[in-house]
Amino acid sequence: MQTVQEDIRQLGVDSLWHALTQHKPLKDKPPMHIVRGEGCYIYDSEGNSYLDALAGLWCVNVGYGRKELAEIAKEQMTELAYLAPTMSHPKAILLADKLLKLLDIQGHVYFASSGSEANEAAFKIARQYQMQIGQYRRYKIISRHRAYHGNTFAAMTATGQAERKIGYDPLAPGFLHIPPPYPYRRHEKLTVEEHGDYAAQMLEDTIIYEGVETVAAFIMEPMISGGGVIVPPDNYIAKIRQICDRYGVVLIFDEVVSGFGRTGKLFGHWHWGIKPDIITFAKGISSGYMPLSATVVSNRIFEAFYGEANELKHFRHVNTYSAHPASTAVGLANIEIMLREDLPDNAMRMGAYIREGLKELEDHPYVGEIRGKGLLLGIETVADKTTKEPLAGSVIAGILNTCKEMGVLIGRNGNTVPGLANVLIMAPPLVLSEADADKIVHALKTAFAKSLAS
Ligand code: PLP
Repeated sequence: MQTVQEDIRQLGVDSLWHALTQHKPLKDKPPMHIVRGEGCYIYDSEGNSYLDALAGLWCVNVGYGRKELAEIAKEQMTELAYLAPTMSHPKAILLADKLLKLLDIQGHVYFASSGSEANEAAFKIARQYQMQIGQYRRYKIISRHRAYHGNTFAAMTATGQAERKIGYDPLAPGFLHIPPPYPYRRHEKLTVEEHGDYAAQMLEDTIIYEGVETVAAFIMEPMISGGGVIVPPDNYIAKIRQICDRYGVVLIFDEVVSGFGRTGKLFGHWHWGIKPDIITFAKGISSGYMPLSATVVSNRIFEAFYGEANELKHFRHVNTYSAHPASTAVGLANIEIMLREDLPDNAMRMGAYIREGLKELEDHPYVGEIRGKGLLLGIETVADKTTKEPLAGSVIAGILNTCKEMGVLIGRNGNTVPGLANVLIMAPPLVLSEADADKIVHALKTAFAKSLAS
């Protein structure tokens, strides 16, 4: 048995091209070899368990091992395994309807398989919409530094993380970036609110400087997630909505991470009481049990696509796996679980509980700021609290390693923003219990204490 496990691990190094991974070191240290998941825990082939405080890639919101979802997928595959997305089937219809009702939006939903595809669809819809309402020169899409929007060409170009683009030029034309609000590193003379105004003003200035008649859309995450867990000042998002309205710019919210309970409300934008024009979802929409994403489009936009068969107005876009029967069936059941167990509320409570548990860590010399909402939490680490110089990568690696040795997997915004890969990230499954939360807090406190001793 042992030999089979070793063989398969070696095969994994020899044949699998792992995401975001430098392969030479794998010769001596193969990737974690995980064989099972249950609740918030994953188990390796040696029987070690790890509290997955990242929920995979921030996606296993309802936790691992939900047999109910496996049964739903099996039933759906047995009944209807696949359907061309030009036709319709009950699960896709019910899921689209459910999403619109939950969001309280009159609109239409385009399904695909990943967050990148959802954002690509959003960009194409925004451009085509502008053209079809007679705004022929509006093609530019503005996004923000630090944000991640995906790995396909347009989504990567919209991404505001320089390292992810090295080696892939030329990127997609027509994209530009503005800085997001970043309260922790704001200008010292500004209050958080003034900083929020200033950051929103940058969008308005950029639209004007670029030429209002050239800007199609603005895309943002409600809270920057992978780029370092950055929560905007409370006044920022309402201002962004007003600016987009003022200048006819489509407002796209990327809720790939913040959707489906992650931030303590079912949807991230609910924290700020505005309605985007387009919203993209992935990850938590199916809790990672099946590949699924959604681009939700308000009818104000959709109407520009509504025409007779011979008008060239329709959305000229297809994904083979759009509205996949098994994915949409699982998505629907996943949302039912989330609502039945009130997981957004648990995320809110457990997030507050972890923040409380980490309170004394705020005095640690390497902790600049602990921030987040719900179960999307970040710890910005610094070498010096006054200058805010980021903590050295090797010290951060040591902290993460101690947590791992204690059976807790914590993330980091590595490989993203040059010089600022210094934020530890927690986004555990939303089923987290107090005992699990205690374990995360204990591991972090121990690891930070040890980092001073080394
Ligand atoms: N948008 C955000 C905010 C993300 O975090 C991600 C992935 O991490 C994406 C989009 C892209 O999603 P996917 O990896 O499913 O293409």
